[in-house]
Amino acid sequence: MSYPLITIEDVIKNTRFYPDSRRETLIKKAYDLAEKAHQGQKRKSGEDYIQHPMHTALNLAKIGMGSKTISAGLLHDVPEDTQITIEEIEKEFGKEISALIDGVTKLGKIRLRGTKEEIFLENLRKMFLAMAADVRVVIIKLADRLHNMETLDALPPEKQQRIAVETMEVFAPLANRLGIGEFKVRLEDLAFKHLDPENFEYVTKLAKEQYEQRRKYVDKVVNELRRELAKEKIEVIKIFGRTKHLHSLFQKLKRHDMDINKIYDLTGIRIIVPEVVNCYETLGIVHKRFHPLVGRIKDYISLPKPNGYQSIHTTIFGPEGKFLEVQIRTKKMDDEAEFGIAAHWIYSEKKKRLRDYFFRSSTAQKVPEKEVNWIRQLREWQNELGKDNQEFIESLKIDFFKNHIFAFTPLGDIIDLPEESTPVDFAYKVHSEIGNRAMGAKVNGRIVPLDYKIHNGDVVEIATSKEHKNPSRDWLRFVRTSEAKSHIRKFMKKDGML
Ligand code: MN
Repeated sequence: MSYPLITIEDVIKNTRFYPDSRRETLIKKAYDLAEKAHQGQKRKSGEDYIQHPMHTALNLAKIGMGSKTISAGLLHDVPEDTQITIEEIEKEFGKEISALIDGVTKLGKIRLRGTKEEIFLENLRKMFLAMAADVRVVIIKLADRLHNMETLDALPPEKQQRIAVETMEVFAPLANRLGIGEFKVRLEDLAFKHLDPENFEYVTKLAKEQYEQRRKYVDKVVNELRRELAKEKIEVIKIFGRTKHLHSLFQKLKRHDMDINKIYDLTGIRIIVPEVVNCYETLGIVHKRFHPLVGRIKDYISLPKPNGYQSIHTTIFGPEGKFLEVQIRTKKMDDEAEFGIAAHWIYSEKKKRLRDYFFRSSTAQKVPEKEVNWIRQLREWQNELGKDNQEFIESLKIDFFKNHIFAFTPLGDIIDLPEESTPVDFAYKVHSEIGNRAMGAKVNGRIVPLDYKIHNGDVVEIATSKEHKNPSRDWLRFVRTSEAKSHIRKFMKKDGML
């Protein structure tokens, strides 16, 4: 497969922040260094190597990452594959960018075994997150993997398989966990193509046929809904027909005897409205016009999915009695569904831009409609986050890393614990009997008290009593996990001590 050659201008054109010369200069400077460093190197596909970091940067630009992340994307293979060192990059670009690049290089060094063991993979994901002190490192890694998947045909077949398995089992779930639907869907479909070419082809053909058959039908319903919503004076930002992506379609087919007629959301309609309240108004209008299918109304606005996904889904009986899924959400929810965590950067970049806009101009200028929308969105966001960009990054670190520590058993299993957990928490996390019989603990080979605060990466060994169960009421003073607390209480109660 030949892949389109791009230039740095394409990357800049696709950024989602307001173009300003400072950011553009940074990106171009990063490009110049990367271009020089990779001079003469070729990809397996025969293209100049620089195409790869540029596509990585383009992927980052498209989901709305900032200029520093894009620059790090351009430079991500430089320390590993060229003469230029990370120290030199730091001197030129500062600590923040060099730390991002260093993180990507380090993640690249983790060798992922191609086993299907669920536990192993879950641990791997944790490691991944634990090692990346900054979530942007993981996002760059995903953008890098996406281009590698897009050019996978150039590699030998066994390598293709290994990388595709890894993508399906580690990278796509990671993208999903970060809420970056845009990456998740593309990674999955590309991996699917390599892992199961026959079914991939089958589903591709099927989806195309079905979509063509149904396009007119979907358009008709879209127009009708548009009219109804206008009548009720609901502002619609966007309303359009959509198709399900190939891998998830295949998964659904497998669950429904490969019967395409049982898939209700193969094609659907998405309606984007300004505010949350409009989502519910819209739902009412849709249901007034078309009967909903019982049990298929899902309100992910009140009850978001674990990765933060928000939307209302409903399946309706369309004209001619055909089923059609309708998704209703705000613009912000839509951006978050496509770009996930990255959407936060889009909004904070806009905020900065807005601040510049207001503080630099002393004369009152007419604020364009687009900016008015920003203000509305920003207010919403400010209320929710109440943080600036830096604080937001910090809060991510807390969410993803700081609240969690990862300790190891002597056998190397990773135990995920909340911060300030103790060996007692660790013991109960491994097994309730180990907790109940814990007598002492060693951390990294040294004896520690049972209320010791475990650190990230500690190897924890628990000494247990064979004869007695001895949880102590005292432990309740220092344990952090609810598991430990409830087990200890249960034991006390049974013993009449509580
Ligand atoms: Mn790379």
